[in-house]
Amino acid sequence: MSTSKPAAPHVTNFIRNIIESDLAKKTYAARTWGGKPGGAKTHAGAPPDPAKIRTRFPPEPNGFLHFGHAKSICLNFGLAQDFTGVCHMRFDDTNPEKEEQEYVDSILDAVKWLGYDWCANGTEHLYFASDYFDFMYEAAEYLITAGHAYVDEQSAEQIRANRGTLTESGKASPQRARPAADSLQALRDMRAGKHAEGSMVVRAKIDMASPNINLRDPAIYRIRKATHHRTGDKWCIYPMYTYAHPIEDALEEITHSLCTLEFEDQRPFYDWLLERLAEGGLLAKPLPHQYEFARLNLTNVVLSKRKLIQLVDEKHVDGWDDPRMPTLVGARRRGYTPEGFRAFADRIGVSKSDSWIDFSVLEDCMREHLNEVAPRRVAVLDPVKLVIDNYPDGQEEECHPPNHPQKPDWGKRAVPFSKELWIEREDFMETPTKGYFRLFPGNKVRLRYGFVIECTGCDKDASGRVTAVHCNYFADSKSGTPGSDNYKVKGNIHWVSARHAYACEVRLFDRLYKEAHPGAGDRDHIKDLNQNSKHVITAQLEPALKDANAGEHFQFERHGYFVADRVDSKPGAPVFNRAVTLRDSWHK
Ligand code: ATP
Ligand code: MG
Repeated sequence: MSTSKPAAPHVTNFIRNIIESDLAKKTYAARTWGGKPGGAKTHAGAPPDPAKIRTRFPPEPNGFLHFGHAKSICLNFGLAQDFTGVCHMRFDDTNPEKEEQEYVDSILDAVKWLGYDWCANGTEHLYFASDYFDFMYEAAEYLITAGHAYVDEQSAEQIRANRGTLTESGKASPQRARPAADSLQALRDMRAGKHAEGSMVVRAKIDMASPNINLRDPAIYRIRKATHHRTGDKWCIYPMYTYAHPIEDALEEITHSLCTLEFEDQRPFYDWLLERLAEGGLLAKPLPHQYEFARLNLTNVVLSKRKLIQLVDEKHVDGWDDPRMPTLVGARRRGYTPEGFRAFADRIGVSKSDSWIDFSVLEDCMREHLNEVAPRRVAVLDPVKLVIDNYPDGQEEECHPPNHPQKPDWGKRAVPFSKELWIEREDFMETPTKGYFRLFPGNKVRLRYGFVIECTGCDKDASGRVTAVHCNYFADSKSGTPGSDNYKVKGNIHWVSARHAYACEVRLFDRLYKEAHPGAGDRDHIKDLNQNSKHVITAQLEPALKDANAGEHFQFERHGYFVADRVDSKPGAPVFNRAVTLRDSWHK
Protein backbone atom coordinates (compact mmCIF):
# COMPACT_ATOMS: atom_id res chain seq x y z
CA MET A 1 0.00 0.00 0.00
CA SER A 2 1.35 3.42 -0.81
CA THR A 3 1.11 6.24 1.63
CA SER A 4 1.07 9.77 0.39
CA LYS A 5 3.68 11.97 1.97
CA PRO A 6 2.60 15.42 3.11
CA ALA A 7 4.02 18.14 0.91
CA ALA A 8 7.46 19.07 2.17
CA PRO A 9 7.25 22.53 3.70
CA HIS A 10 10.78 23.41 2.55
CA VAL A 11 13.09 22.46 -0.22
CA THR A 12 15.44 19.91 1.22
CA ASN A 13 19.15 20.63 1.68
CA PHE A 14 22.22 18.88 3.01
CA ILE A 15 21.59 20.00 6.59
CA ARG A 16 18.01 18.75 6.58
CA ASN A 17 19.29 15.46 5.17
CA ILE A 18 21.82 15.14 8.01
CA ILE A 19 19.15 15.85 10.62
CA GLU A 20 16.73 13.38 9.06
CA SER A 21 19.41 10.75 9.03
CA ASP A 22 20.35 11.48 12.68
CA LEU A 23 16.72 11.17 13.68
CA ALA A 24 16.37 7.89 11.76
CA LYS A 25 19.55 6.52 13.36
CA LYS A 26 18.48 7.86 16.78
CA THR A 27 21.90 9.50 17.15
CA TYR A 28 20.60 11.82 19.85
CA ALA A 29 17.69 9.78 21.19
CA ALA A 30 19.43 8.85 24.47
CA ARG A 31 20.20 12.43 25.41
CA THR A 32 18.98 13.72 28.74
CA TRP A 33 18.40 17.38 29.50
CA GLY A 34 18.84 18.76 32.97
CA GLY A 35 16.57 21.73 32.29
CA LYS A 36 19.40 24.20 31.87
CA PRO A 37 22.81 24.32 30.22
CA GLY A 38 25.61 22.64 32.08
CA GLY A 39 28.31 20.00 32.09
CA ALA A 40 27.94 16.26 32.50
CA LYS A 41 26.71 16.64 36.11
CA THR A 42 23.78 18.84 35.09
CA HIS A 43 22.41 16.37 32.57
CA ALA A 44 23.30 13.04 34.24
CA GLY A 45 20.20 11.15 35.36
CA ALA A 46 17.89 13.85 34.01
CA PRO A 47 14.81 12.98 31.93
CA PRO A 48 15.14 12.46 28.18
CA ASP A 49 15.37 15.71 26.27
CA PRO A 50 11.92 16.64 24.93
CA ALA A 51 13.68 18.53 22.13
CA LYS A 52 14.52 16.20 19.25
CA ILE A 53 17.30 18.51 18.09
CA ARG A 54 18.89 21.64 19.48
CA THR A 55 20.27 24.42 17.30
CA ARG A 56 21.41 27.90 18.27
CA PHE A 57 21.80 31.37 16.88
CA PRO A 58 24.99 32.73 18.47
CA PRO A 59 25.68 36.38 17.56
CA GLU A 60 28.41 38.38 19.16
CA PRO A 61 26.69 41.49 20.62
CA ASN A 62 29.07 43.90 18.90
CA GLY A 63 26.85 45.35 16.19
CA PHE A 64 23.46 45.27 14.56
CA LEU A 65 22.23 42.22 12.67
CA HIS A 66 22.45 42.23 8.89
CA PHE A 67 20.74 40.24 6.13
CA GLY A 68 23.35 37.47 6.45
CA HIS A 69 22.30 36.97 10.05
CA ALA A 70 18.69 36.72 8.88
CA LYS A 71 19.71 33.71 6.80
CA SER A 72 21.29 32.10 9.85
CA ILE A 73 18.30 32.95 12.09
CA CYS A 74 15.76 31.53 9.64
CA LEU A 75 17.91 28.43 9.20
CA ASN A 76 18.48 27.68 12.89
CA PHE A 77 15.06 28.61 14.22
CA GLY A 78 13.36 27.14 11.14
CA LEU A 79 15.06 23.75 11.55
CA ALA A 80 14.12 23.63 15.23
CA GLN A 81 10.48 24.35 14.33
CA ASP A 82 10.36 21.76 11.58
CA PHE A 83 12.00 18.96 13.54
CA THR A 84 10.31 19.44 16.95
CA GLY A 85 13.47 20.87 18.33
CA VAL A 86 14.50 24.00 20.17
CA CYS A 87 16.69 26.84 18.97
CA HIS A 88 18.67 28.67 21.61
CA MET A 89 19.25 32.37 21.48
CA ARG A 90 22.82 32.73 22.69
CA PHE A 91 25.04 35.75 22.95
CA ASP A 92 28.62 34.90 22.25
CA ASP A 93 29.95 37.59 24.56
CA THR A 94 33.44 36.32 25.27
CA ASN A 95 35.19 39.44 24.00
CA PRO A 96 34.85 42.17 26.65
CA GLU A 97 35.99 45.13 24.58
CA LYS A 98 33.36 45.64 21.94
CA GLU A 99 30.19 44.29 23.45
CA GLU A 100 27.31 46.35 24.67
CA GLN A 101 23.83 45.98 26.09
CA GLU A 102 22.45 48.18 23.33
CA TYR A 103 23.39 45.51 20.79
CA VAL A 104 21.91 42.74 22.92
CA ASP A 105 18.55 44.54 22.99
CA SER A 106 18.58 45.30 19.31
CA ILE A 107 19.46 41.70 18.39
CA LEU A 108 16.67 40.27 20.54
CA ASP A 109 14.28 42.71 18.94
CA ALA A 110 15.36 41.74 15.44
CA VAL A 111 14.99 38.01 16.07
CA LYS A 112 11.50 38.54 17.50
CA TRP A 113 10.64 40.77 14.58
CA LEU A 114 11.61 37.99 12.18
CA GLY A 115 8.97 35.90 13.93
CA TYR A 116 11.06 33.62 16.13
CA ASP A 117 10.98 32.85 19.77
CA TRP A 118 13.47 31.17 22.11
CA CYS A 119 10.83 30.15 24.61
CA ALA A 120 9.87 26.47 24.33
CA ASN A 121 7.71 24.43 26.71
CA GLY A 122 7.71 27.32 29.13
CA THR A 123 11.51 27.64 29.23
CA GLU A 124 13.36 30.69 27.93
CA HIS A 125 16.38 29.46 26.02
CA LEU A 126 18.18 32.77 26.20
CA TYR A 127 21.80 32.28 27.14
CA PHE A 128 25.05 34.19 27.44
CA ALA A 129 28.44 32.65 26.88
CA SER A 130 29.69 34.78 29.77
CA ASP A 131 27.47 32.71 32.11
CA TYR A 132 29.77 29.79 31.31
CA PHE A 133 33.04 31.52 32.24
CA ASP A 134 33.34 29.50 35.46
CA PHE A 135 32.96 26.24 33.58
CA MET A 136 35.37 27.35 30.89
CA TYR A 137 37.93 28.21 33.50
CA GLU A 138 37.50 24.85 35.26
CA ALA A 139 37.87 23.16 31.89
CA ALA A 140 41.15 25.01 31.29
CA GLU A 141 42.46 23.86 34.68
CA TYR A 142 41.41 20.32 33.80
CA LEU A 143 43.16 20.44 30.43
CA ILE A 144 46.37 21.63 32.07
CA THR A 145 46.16 18.99 34.76
CA ALA A 146 45.54 16.25 32.22
CA GLY A 147 48.51 17.38 30.13
CA HIS A 148 46.41 18.82 27.30
CA ALA A 149 47.30 22.46 27.80
CA TYR A 150 50.07 24.70 29.12
CA VAL A 151 50.80 28.30 29.88
CA ASP A 152 53.09 29.85 27.30
CA GLU A 153 55.10 32.95 28.17
CA GLN A 154 56.35 33.67 24.69
CA SER A 155 55.31 37.03 23.27
CA ALA A 156 52.56 37.19 20.69
CA GLU A 157 55.20 37.79 17.99
CA GLN A 158 57.23 34.78 19.09
CA ILE A 159 54.16 32.59 19.08
CA ARG A 160 53.27 33.79 15.60
CA ALA A 161 56.81 33.28 14.31
CA ASN A 162 57.03 29.79 15.80
CA ARG A 163 53.69 28.67 14.42
CA GLY A 164 55.29 27.73 11.09
CA THR A 165 53.67 27.95 7.68
CA LEU A 166 51.66 25.77 5.34
CA THR A 167 54.86 24.08 4.22
CA GLU A 168 56.87 24.20 7.45
CA SER A 169 55.85 22.77 10.77
CA GLY A 170 55.86 24.93 13.87
CA LYS A 171 58.46 25.10 16.64
CA ALA A 172 57.53 24.00 20.11
CA SER A 173 57.54 26.68 22.76
CA PRO A 174 60.17 26.32 25.51
CA GLN A 175 57.23 26.10 27.95
CA ARG A 176 55.45 23.28 26.13
CA ALA A 177 57.11 20.67 28.30
CA ARG A 178 56.88 22.47 31.64
CA PRO A 179 55.26 20.48 34.47
CA ALA A 180 51.47 20.70 34.66
CA ALA A 181 51.69 22.03 38.21
CA ASP A 182 53.75 24.92 36.94
CA SER A 183 51.28 25.81 34.25
CA LEU A 184 48.42 25.49 36.69
CA GLN A 185 50.04 27.94 39.07
CA ALA A 186 50.70 30.31 36.18
CA LEU A 187 47.02 30.10 35.13
CA ARG A 188 45.91 30.84 38.68
CA ASP A 189 48.24 33.82 38.81
CA MET A 190 46.90 35.01 35.47
CA ARG A 191 43.41 34.80 36.86
CA ALA A 192 44.44 36.64 40.00
CA GLY A 193 45.63 39.55 37.89
CA LYS A 194 49.31 39.07 38.66
CA HIS A 195 50.43 39.26 35.05
CA ALA A 196 50.30 41.92 32.40
CA GLU A 197 48.17 41.72 29.27
CA GLY A 198 50.00 39.87 26.51
CA SER A 199 52.62 38.43 28.87
CA MET A 200 51.28 34.87 28.61
CA VAL A 201 48.47 32.75 27.20
CA VAL A 202 47.08 29.30 27.82
CA ARG A 203 47.53 27.01 24.81
CA ALA A 204 46.06 23.63 24.00
CA LYS A 205 48.81 21.03 23.56
CA ILE A 206 47.96 19.29 20.30
CA ASP A 207 50.44 19.04 17.43
CA MET A 208 52.97 21.67 16.32
CA ALA A 209 53.48 19.73 13.08
CA SER A 210 49.81 19.43 12.11
CA PRO A 211 49.07 20.37 8.49
CA ASN A 212 46.09 22.23 9.95
CA ILE A 213 47.66 25.31 11.52
CA ASN A 214 44.64 25.65 13.81
CA LEU A 215 45.86 22.54 15.63
CA ARG A 216 49.36 23.90 16.31
CA ASP A 217 48.69 24.54 19.96
CA PRO A 218 45.96 27.19 19.62
CA ALA A 219 45.57 29.77 22.39
CA ILE A 220 42.55 29.14 24.59
CA TYR A 221 42.86 31.87 27.25
CA ARG A 222 44.37 35.33 27.24
CA ILE A 223 44.73 38.19 29.69
CA ARG A 224 42.44 41.19 29.13
CA LYS A 225 42.05 43.75 31.87
CA ALA A 226 38.75 44.99 30.54
CA THR A 227 35.31 45.42 32.04
CA HIS A 228 32.78 43.01 30.58
CA HIS A 229 29.21 44.16 29.89
CA ARG A 230 27.81 41.41 32.13
CA THR A 231 30.54 40.05 34.39
CA GLY A 232 32.05 43.45 35.13
CA ASP A 233 35.56 43.13 36.58
CA LYS A 234 35.19 39.58 37.85
CA TRP A 235 37.59 38.31 35.20
CA CYS A 236 40.85 39.54 33.80
CA ILE A 237 41.34 36.48 31.62
CA TYR A 238 38.96 35.65 28.80
CA PRO A 239 38.52 32.51 26.70
CA MET A 240 39.31 32.64 22.99
CA TYR A 241 36.31 32.35 20.70
CA THR A 242 37.48 29.06 19.22
CA TYR A 243 37.74 27.56 22.70
CA ALA A 244 34.54 29.06 24.06
CA HIS A 245 32.22 28.26 21.20
CA PRO A 246 32.40 24.44 21.27
CA ILE A 247 32.01 24.48 25.05
CA GLU A 248 28.94 26.72 24.80
CA ASP A 249 27.43 24.29 22.30
CA ALA A 250 28.19 21.29 24.49
CA LEU A 251 26.84 22.82 27.71
CA GLU A 252 23.61 23.62 25.89
CA GLU A 253 23.49 20.14 24.33
CA ILE A 254 23.32 21.59 20.85
CA THR A 255 23.01 18.70 18.43
CA HIS A 256 23.63 20.51 15.13
CA SER A 257 25.91 23.51 15.38
CA LEU A 258 25.67 25.42 12.11
CA CYS A 259 28.22 27.99 11.09
CA THR A 260 29.61 29.57 7.95
CA LEU A 261 32.30 27.95 5.81
CA GLU A 262 35.23 29.93 7.15
CA PHE A 263 35.03 27.81 10.32
CA GLU A 264 35.56 24.54 8.47
CA ASP A 265 39.26 24.45 9.43
CA GLN A 266 38.30 24.94 13.05
CA ARG A 267 36.17 21.80 13.17
CA PRO A 268 39.09 19.47 14.07
CA PHE A 269 39.84 21.65 17.11
CA TYR A 270 36.14 21.79 17.98
CA ASP A 271 36.03 18.00 18.03
CA TRP A 272 39.39 17.59 19.77
CA LEU A 273 38.44 19.91 22.59
CA LEU A 274 35.02 18.38 23.25
CA GLU A 275 36.43 14.84 23.15
CA ARG A 276 39.09 15.75 25.74
CA LEU A 277 36.51 17.33 28.05
CA ALA A 278 34.14 14.38 27.65
CA GLU A 279 37.00 11.97 28.45
CA GLY A 280 37.62 13.94 31.60
CA GLY A 281 33.95 13.54 32.57
CA LEU A 282 33.24 17.27 32.25
CA LEU A 283 30.86 17.00 29.32
CA ALA A 284 27.95 14.69 28.57
CA LYS A 285 27.87 12.64 25.38
CA PRO A 286 26.72 12.60 22.60
CA LEU A 287 28.67 15.71 21.71
CA PRO A 288 27.51 18.43 19.33
CA HIS A 289 28.61 18.42 15.73
CA GLN A 290 29.61 21.41 13.66
CA TYR A 291 28.34 21.77 10.08
CA GLU A 292 29.34 24.56 7.75
CA PHE A 293 27.19 26.27 5.14
CA ALA A 294 27.86 29.05 2.65
CA ARG A 295 27.38 32.56 3.96
CA LEU A 296 24.97 34.88 2.23
CA ASN A 297 26.56 37.22 -0.29
CA LEU A 298 24.09 39.69 -1.72
CA THR A 299 24.87 41.95 -4.67
CA ASN A 300 25.03 45.75 -4.29
CA VAL A 301 25.42 45.67 -0.50
CA VAL A 302 28.12 44.57 1.95
CA LEU A 303 27.44 42.06 4.71
CA SER A 304 30.33 42.53 7.04
CA LYS A 305 29.99 44.29 10.36
CA ARG A 306 33.34 45.97 9.89
CA LYS A 307 32.30 47.59 6.60
CA LEU A 308 28.86 48.48 7.90
CA ILE A 309 30.43 50.20 10.90
CA GLN A 310 32.58 52.18 8.48
CA LEU A 311 29.49 53.32 6.53
CA VAL A 312 27.93 54.59 9.74
CA ASP A 313 31.06 56.12 11.28
CA GLU A 314 32.04 57.94 8.10
CA LYS A 315 28.43 59.06 7.63
CA HIS A 316 27.93 57.58 4.18
CA VAL A 317 24.49 56.60 5.51
CA ASP A 318 22.21 58.13 8.16
CA GLY A 319 22.88 55.50 10.83
CA TRP A 320 22.40 51.78 11.40
CA ASP A 321 18.71 52.02 10.66
CA ASP A 322 19.09 53.96 7.44
CA PRO A 323 16.58 52.25 5.12
CA ARG A 324 19.36 51.64 2.59
CA MET A 325 21.46 49.66 5.08
CA PRO A 326 21.39 45.86 4.79
CA THR A 327 20.68 45.67 8.51
CA LEU A 328 17.46 44.32 9.97
CA VAL A 329 16.77 47.65 11.69
CA GLY A 330 17.26 49.35 8.31
CA ALA A 331 15.10 46.83 6.49
CA ARG A 332 12.30 47.31 8.95
CA ARG A 333 12.30 51.05 8.38
CA ARG A 334 12.54 50.52 4.67
CA GLY A 335 9.30 48.52 4.81
CA TYR A 336 10.71 45.04 4.26
CA THR A 337 8.75 42.37 6.10
CA PRO A 338 9.62 39.32 8.21
CA GLU A 339 7.51 37.17 5.88
CA GLY A 340 9.60 38.43 2.98
CA PHE A 341 12.84 37.48 4.75
CA ARG A 342 11.56 34.02 5.62
CA ALA A 343 10.48 33.44 2.03
CA PHE A 344 13.91 34.67 0.91
CA ALA A 345 15.70 32.25 3.24
CA ASP A 346 13.65 29.40 1.82
CA ARG A 347 14.23 30.48 -1.74
CA ILE A 348 18.01 30.81 -1.50
CA GLY A 349 18.37 27.59 0.50
CA VAL A 350 21.65 26.48 2.04
CA SER A 351 24.59 24.96 0.27
CA LYS A 352 28.24 24.23 0.83
CA SER A 353 29.64 26.52 -1.83
CA ASP A 354 29.86 30.28 -1.83
CA SER A 355 27.87 32.21 -4.39
CA TRP A 356 26.26 35.60 -4.88
CA ILE A 357 22.52 36.14 -4.67
CA ASP A 358 21.15 38.97 -6.77
CA PHE A 359 19.56 41.73 -4.72
CA SER A 360 16.46 41.45 -6.92
CA VAL A 361 15.73 38.02 -5.42
CA LEU A 362 15.27 39.64 -2.02
CA GLU A 363 13.16 42.38 -3.57
CA ASP A 364 10.94 39.83 -5.30
CA CYS A 365 10.26 38.15 -1.98
CA MET A 366 9.29 41.48 -0.41
CA ARG A 367 7.11 42.40 -3.39
CA GLU A 368 5.28 39.10 -3.34
CA HIS A 369 4.41 39.42 0.30
CA LEU A 370 3.52 43.11 0.14
CA ASN A 371 1.28 42.47 -2.84
CA GLU A 372 -0.78 40.25 -0.57
CA VAL A 373 -0.99 42.52 2.44
CA ALA A 374 -0.72 46.13 1.26
CA PRO A 375 -3.90 48.08 0.51
CA ARG A 376 -3.81 50.19 -2.63
CA ARG A 377 -3.64 53.95 -2.42
CA VAL A 378 -2.94 56.80 -4.81
CA ALA A 379 0.10 59.06 -4.68
CA VAL A 380 1.43 61.52 -7.23
CA LEU A 381 5.20 61.60 -6.86
CA ASP A 382 6.07 64.27 -9.44
CA PRO A 383 3.00 66.47 -9.43
CA VAL A 384 1.72 68.90 -12.07
CA LYS A 385 -1.73 70.54 -11.93
CA LEU A 386 -4.55 69.31 -14.14
CA VAL A 387 -7.41 71.81 -14.51
CA ILE A 388 -10.78 70.52 -15.72
CA ASP A 389 -12.06 73.70 -17.31
CA ASN A 390 -15.67 72.55 -17.76
CA TYR A 391 -16.03 71.17 -14.21
CA PRO A 392 -18.05 73.53 -12.02
CA ASP A 393 -16.00 75.66 -9.63
CA GLY A 394 -16.49 74.65 -6.03
CA GLN A 395 -18.14 71.33 -6.89
CA GLU A 396 -16.77 68.12 -5.43
CA GLU A 397 -17.84 64.50 -5.43
CA GLU A 398 -16.51 61.07 -4.49
CA CYS A 399 -14.92 58.33 -6.56
CA HIS A 400 -14.61 54.77 -5.23
CA PRO A 401 -11.40 52.89 -5.94
CA PRO A 402 -11.02 49.32 -4.66
CA ASN A 403 -8.64 48.74 -1.75
CA HIS A 404 -7.15 45.72 -3.52
CA PRO A 405 -8.08 44.79 -7.08
CA GLN A 406 -7.77 41.03 -6.41
CA LYS A 407 -9.51 41.14 -3.03
CA PRO A 408 -13.05 42.48 -3.49
CA ASP A 409 -13.80 41.72 0.18
CA TRP A 410 -11.39 44.51 1.16
CA GLY A 411 -14.04 46.89 -0.18
CA LYS A 412 -13.74 50.30 -1.72
CA ARG A 413 -12.97 53.68 -0.27
CA ALA A 414 -14.17 57.17 -1.11
CA VAL A 415 -11.70 59.67 -2.53
CA PRO A 416 -12.64 63.28 -3.29
CA PHE A 417 -12.72 64.60 -6.83
CA SER A 418 -12.74 68.28 -7.79
CA LYS A 419 -11.90 70.74 -10.56
CA GLU A 420 -8.14 70.79 -9.95
CA LEU A 421 -6.17 67.61 -9.61
CA TRP A 422 -2.54 66.58 -9.27
CA ILE A 423 -1.29 64.21 -11.94
CA GLU A 424 2.19 62.88 -12.73
CA ARG A 425 4.25 65.22 -14.85
CA GLU A 426 5.19 62.29 -17.08
CA ASP A 427 1.51 61.64 -17.86
CA PHE A 428 1.43 64.70 -20.13
CA MET A 429 3.42 65.42 -23.29
CA GLU A 430 2.82 68.48 -25.36
CA THR A 431 4.16 66.65 -28.39
CA PRO A 432 3.64 62.94 -27.88
CA THR A 433 6.24 60.38 -28.88
CA LYS A 434 5.18 57.32 -30.84
CA GLY A 435 3.12 54.91 -28.75
CA TYR A 436 2.34 57.48 -26.04
CA PHE A 437 -1.28 57.04 -24.97
CA ARG A 438 -1.54 59.39 -22.06
CA LEU A 439 -2.38 63.11 -22.08
CA PHE A 440 -1.54 65.27 -25.09
CA PRO A 441 -3.65 67.92 -26.74
CA GLY A 442 -6.65 66.30 -28.44
CA ASN A 443 -6.25 62.91 -26.69
CA LYS A 444 -8.69 61.30 -24.29
CA VAL A 445 -7.73 59.29 -21.20
CA ARG A 446 -9.57 57.97 -18.19
CA LEU A 447 -8.81 59.40 -14.78
CA ARG A 448 -8.59 56.09 -12.95
CA TYR A 449 -11.87 55.31 -11.08
CA GLY A 450 -13.20 58.71 -12.32
CA PHE A 451 -14.08 60.43 -15.55
CA VAL A 452 -12.86 60.41 -19.12
CA ILE A 453 -11.22 63.70 -20.05
CA GLU A 454 -9.93 65.24 -23.25
CA CYS A 455 -6.77 67.29 -23.13
CA THR A 456 -6.98 70.80 -24.50
CA GLY A 457 -3.48 72.19 -23.88
CA CYS A 458 -1.17 73.45 -21.17
CA ASP A 459 0.29 76.55 -19.48
CA LYS A 460 4.04 77.10 -19.41
CA ASP A 461 6.37 79.40 -17.56
CA ALA A 462 9.04 81.58 -19.13
CA SER A 463 11.47 78.66 -19.24
CA GLY A 464 8.99 76.49 -21.13
CA ARG A 465 8.25 74.25 -18.19
CA VAL A 466 4.65 73.05 -18.03
CA THR A 467 2.86 74.59 -15.04
CA ALA A 468 -0.67 73.25 -15.65
CA VAL A 469 -2.45 70.94 -18.05
CA HIS A 470 -5.97 71.78 -19.23
CA CYS A 471 -8.80 69.44 -20.16
CA ASN A 472 -12.56 69.00 -20.33
CA TYR A 473 -14.41 66.11 -18.78
CA PHE A 474 -17.37 64.07 -19.94
CA ALA A 475 -19.97 64.18 -17.20
CA ASP A 476 -21.59 60.86 -18.27
CA SER A 477 -18.30 58.88 -18.24
CA LYS A 478 -17.82 58.31 -14.52
CA SER A 479 -16.48 54.83 -13.71
CA GLY A 480 -19.16 52.54 -12.37
CA THR A 481 -22.08 54.55 -13.80
CA PRO A 482 -24.29 53.24 -16.65
CA GLY A 483 -22.88 53.99 -20.08
CA SER A 484 -19.38 54.80 -18.81
CA ASP A 485 -17.94 51.96 -20.89
CA ASN A 486 -19.12 53.64 -24.09
CA TYR A 487 -15.92 55.62 -23.89
CA LYS A 488 -12.97 53.70 -25.31
CA VAL A 489 -9.63 55.14 -24.32
CA LYS A 490 -6.12 53.68 -24.27
CA GLY A 491 -4.67 55.71 -21.42
CA ASN A 492 -5.59 55.49 -17.75
CA ILE A 493 -3.86 57.83 -15.32
CA HIS A 494 -3.97 58.32 -11.57
CA TRP A 495 -4.69 61.59 -9.81
CA VAL A 496 -5.32 63.22 -6.46
CA SER A 497 -7.67 66.14 -5.82
CA ALA A 498 -5.41 69.16 -5.33
CA ARG A 499 -7.58 70.83 -2.70
CA HIS A 500 -7.69 67.65 -0.56
CA ALA A 501 -4.25 66.20 -1.17
CA TYR A 502 -1.74 65.53 1.59
CA ALA A 503 1.60 67.06 0.58
CA CYS A 504 4.08 64.66 2.10
CA GLU A 505 7.77 63.83 2.31
CA VAL A 506 8.48 60.60 0.47
CA ARG A 507 11.88 58.88 0.29
CA LEU A 508 12.83 56.82 -2.74
CA PHE A 509 15.80 54.49 -2.51
CA ASP A 510 18.08 52.83 -4.94
CA ARG A 511 20.91 50.32 -4.62
CA LEU A 512 23.37 51.35 -1.90
CA TYR A 513 26.35 50.37 -4.08
CA LYS A 514 26.52 50.88 -7.80
CA GLU A 515 28.76 47.83 -8.18
CA ALA A 516 27.30 44.34 -7.82
CA HIS A 517 30.32 43.16 -5.83
CA PRO A 518 31.39 46.18 -3.76
CA GLY A 519 35.09 46.32 -3.07
CA ALA A 520 35.85 43.34 -5.32
CA GLY A 521 39.53 42.82 -5.99
CA ASP A 522 41.50 45.46 -4.15
CA ARG A 523 38.98 48.25 -4.65
CA ASP A 524 37.88 50.32 -1.70
CA HIS A 525 34.19 49.52 -1.23
CA ILE A 526 33.52 53.18 -0.38
CA LYS A 527 34.40 54.08 -3.98
CA ASP A 528 31.64 51.74 -5.16
CA LEU A 529 28.87 53.52 -3.26
CA ASN A 530 25.96 54.74 -5.37
CA GLN A 531 25.88 58.51 -4.82
CA ASN A 532 22.22 58.62 -5.89
CA SER A 533 20.83 55.99 -3.58
CA LYS A 534 18.38 58.30 -1.82
CA HIS A 535 15.88 60.82 -3.20
CA VAL A 536 13.65 62.87 -0.96
CA ILE A 537 10.61 64.36 -2.69
CA THR A 538 7.39 66.10 -1.79
CA ALA A 539 4.56 64.03 -3.18
CA GLN A 540 0.80 64.62 -3.26
CA LEU A 541 -1.06 61.80 -1.57
CA GLU A 542 -4.73 60.90 -1.32
CA PRO A 543 -6.00 62.55 1.86
CA ALA A 544 -6.68 59.43 3.93
CA LEU A 545 -2.95 58.63 3.96
CA LYS A 546 -2.55 61.43 6.48
CA ASP A 547 -3.93 59.01 9.06
CA ALA A 548 -1.53 56.17 8.26
CA ASN A 549 0.12 54.65 11.31
CA ALA A 550 3.89 54.34 11.53
CA GLY A 551 4.88 50.99 10.07
CA GLU A 552 1.74 50.64 7.94
CA HIS A 553 2.26 49.41 4.37
CA PHE A 554 0.54 50.52 1.16
CA GLN A 555 0.91 50.02 -2.51
CA PHE A 556 0.96 53.41 -4.18
CA GLU A 557 -0.54 52.48 -7.53
CA ARG A 558 2.03 52.38 -10.35
CA HIS A 559 4.87 53.33 -7.92
CA GLY A 560 5.50 50.41 -5.65
CA TYR A 561 5.18 49.47 -2.00
CA PHE A 562 5.64 52.09 0.68
CA VAL A 563 5.67 52.19 4.45
CA ALA A 564 4.99 55.01 6.88
CA ASP A 565 8.44 55.56 8.40
CA ARG A 566 8.65 54.24 11.95
CA VAL A 567 11.00 56.95 13.16
CA ASP A 568 10.08 60.20 11.45
CA SER A 569 6.29 59.84 11.15
CA LYS A 570 4.15 61.85 13.57
CA PRO A 571 0.48 61.21 14.29
CA GLY A 572 -1.46 62.86 11.46
CA ALA A 573 1.79 63.56 9.60
CA PRO A 574 3.38 60.37 8.34
CA VAL A 575 6.33 60.36 5.95
CA PHE A 576 6.79 57.44 3.59
CA ASN A 577 9.66 55.23 2.46
CA ARG A 578 9.53 53.20 -0.70
CA ALA A 579 10.31 49.59 0.19
CA VAL A 580 10.37 48.30 -3.36
CA THR A 581 9.14 49.23 -6.81
CA LEU A 582 6.42 47.20 -8.57
CA ARG A 583 8.93 45.68 -10.96
CA ASP A 584 12.66 45.31 -10.97
CA SER A 585 13.91 48.63 -12.27
CA TRP A 586 17.63 48.44 -11.52
CA HIS A 587 19.81 48.77 -14.62
CA LYS A 588 23.55 48.80 -14.56
P1 ATP B 1 30.37 39.64 10.32
O1 ATP B 1 31.23 38.73 9.50
O2 ATP B 1 29.44 40.49 9.54
O3 ATP B 1 31.14 40.42 11.33
P2 ATP B 1 29.89 37.65 12.21
O4 ATP B 1 29.93 36.30 11.64
O5 ATP B 1 31.09 38.13 12.93
O6 ATP B 1 29.42 38.67 11.11
P3 ATP B 1 28.30 36.97 14.45
O7 ATP B 1 27.58 37.86 15.37
O8 ATP B 1 29.48 36.23 14.96
O9 ATP B 1 28.69 37.84 13.19
O10 ATP B 1 27.34 35.95 13.70
C1 ATP B 1 26.26 35.28 14.28
C2 ATP B 1 25.86 34.16 13.37
O11 ATP B 1 25.44 34.65 12.10
C3 ATP B 1 27.02 33.22 13.11
O12 ATP B 1 26.57 31.90 13.30
C4 ATP B 1 27.40 33.48 11.68
O13 ATP B 1 27.88 32.34 11.05
C5 ATP B 1 26.09 33.95 11.05
N1 ATP B 1 26.35 34.83 9.92
C6 ATP B 1 27.04 35.99 9.91
N2 ATP B 1 27.13 36.49 8.67
C7 ATP B 1 26.46 35.64 7.86
C8 ATP B 1 26.18 35.60 6.45
N3 ATP B 1 26.62 36.54 5.62
N4 ATP B 1 25.45 34.56 5.97
C9 ATP B 1 25.00 33.61 6.80
N5 ATP B 1 25.23 33.57 8.12
C10 ATP B 1 25.95 34.57 8.65
MG1 MG C 1 31.87 36.65 14.31
